[in-house]
Amino acid sequence: MAGILIIGEHRQGELRPVTLELITAAESIKAGTGGTITVALIGNRLDAFVTQVAVGGVDAIVRVEAAHDDFDPDLYAASLKALVDSLQPSVVLVPQSVNSLGYAAAVAAVNGYGLATDVFGLACEGDTLVATRSGYSQKVSVELDFPGKAVVVLAVRAGTFKAPVGVAAAVVSAQPAPGAPARVRHTGYVASESVDTVNIPGAEFIMSIGRGVGEETNVEEYAELAESIGATLGCSRPLADAGWLPKARQVGQSGKTASACRLYLAFGISGSVQHLAGMKHVDTIIAVNTDREASIFSYAKYGIVGDMFEIAEELRNHF
Ligand SMILES: Cc1cc2nc3c(=O)[nH]c(=O)nc-3n(C[C@H](O)[C@H](O)[C@H](O)COP(=O)(O)OP(=O)(O)OC[C@H]3O[C@@H](n4cnc5c(N)ncnc54)[C@H](O)[C@@H]3O)c2cc1C
Repeated sequence: MAGILIIGEHRQGELRPVTLELITAAESIKAGTGGTITVALIGNRLDAFVTQVAVGGVDAIVRVEAAHDDFDPDLYAASLKALVDSLQPSVVLVPQSVNSLGYAAAVAAVNGYGLATDVFGLACEGDTLVATRSGYSQKVSVELDFPGKAVVVLAVRAGTFKAPVGVAAAVVSAQPAPGAPARVRHTGYVASESVDTVNIPGAEFIMSIGRGVGEETNVEEYAELAESIGATLGCSRPLADAGWLPKARQVGQSGKTASACRLYLAFGISGSVQHLAGMKHVDTIIAVNTDREASIFSYAKYGIVGDMFEIAEELRNHF
């Protein structure tokens, strides 16, 4: 296999963090692909972004000089095709984002590339690239390979990989953006109104609750406890599925990854592999569970076999 191409993403003059996470994703398969890692940045004010992406194992940075910085799906589609033609990568990584929805699948379909979206696992098994994503409404994990595909485009879920450390001595080159039909015109930026602005990937201290909470009416007391101890409230999937807490608070394989977390307090969570996928890397995990055999205790640094309501009460008395 040849190299890996990353299409960087920026918005409102800021590089989106997922761009850096894609570098770590690329590093995880670099040995298997045997190629180089190239980051492409598309826009007209790219200087700061070039410095930001010169990290980890990046070998080259390509500036695709466009007339403006606004996202235009046709511009990205034409740029992606031109970059694949010139660099001949075997893997293209793009963020799983509203932007990539506008061009990645279309370019892959038109040009006969392999494609997987919402990827949260990457591996090389020998010469074979394997991408993991969910299937059947996130009920199963599906491993995909791409037989016969010289180029594979993967849209990778944000928060799956940590940003890399270390500065890279990358070779920087520039090329003009290919001509693309101007079918859209950027008229302004309107931030979406989020009902819950929680940032699980960015939180350093997370207190998560699971099905052990029992009833929806009990959730509020844990929300208050989280606030009083300075933690971000997270949850396991059954609570998000039931609508007891917003999906944005779900930690795990089909939720968010606690990327920046250093302390994770798990109340009434059994420790399924899918929940662990979002938090087992955290240095300090404290688990509270009535079942001493619960899997979460295998990953917790500190465990309390006990009733989460009693432990919550103890905590409340100290804050
Ligand atoms: C494709 C797929 C993707 C998934 N993605 C995710 C995901 O992203 N995140 C996620 O969390 N799950 C996910 N799941 C679901 C996952 O498999 C589990 O069903 C889920 O994590 C279980 O949540 P839980 O630990 O809260 O509940 P349970 O497994 O029911 O555990 C509840 C725990 O609470 C304990 N308990 C009960 N009462 C108390 C009490 N009073 N005090 C203390 N402890 C108590 C019990 O002993 C038990 O261990 C996914 C599943 C699939 C198939």
